[in-house]
Amino acid sequence: MTDTIFGKIARGEIPADLVYEDEDVVAFRDLSPQAPVHLLVIPRKPIPTLDDAQPEDAQLLGRLLLAAAKVARAAGIAESGYRAVLNCNAGGGQVVFHLHLHVLGGRPFTWPPG
Ligand code: AMP
Repeated sequence: MTDTIFGKIARGEIPADLVYEDEDVVAFRDLSPQAPVHLLVIPRKPIPTLDDAQPEDAQLLGRLLLAAAKVARAAGIAESGYRAVLNCNAGGGQVVFHLHLHVLGGRPFTWPPG
């Protein structure tokens, strides 16, 4: 089993600027924000990457997306629009190997992403 800094945050072992938590999901502010609002939404379950998710994780992944929408609304970025990003593996830009969604908002975004 992998342990990461996000696993420690999920278990309350190290501090984070939490904005939401429930039984399955924790959301907190990114330490190095790339937009005026930059939140990370993680499952408590330590799934390393999206590629490691299993069919039995389907409900949890749905909860993660719904939590992302909830924290975006609470942060006031839903109406103007925001970006939800999930980096998978090193080539996809993933650095912390505990599955997480970035929720970014408060500025315009371009496509394609860098
Ligand atoms: P990724 O590149 O998708 O793995 O994203 C990892 C993100 O975690 C980066 O945006 C980091 O700034 C952020 N990060 C790393 N450590 C912490 C931490 N202790 N608290 C909050 N955000 C963190």
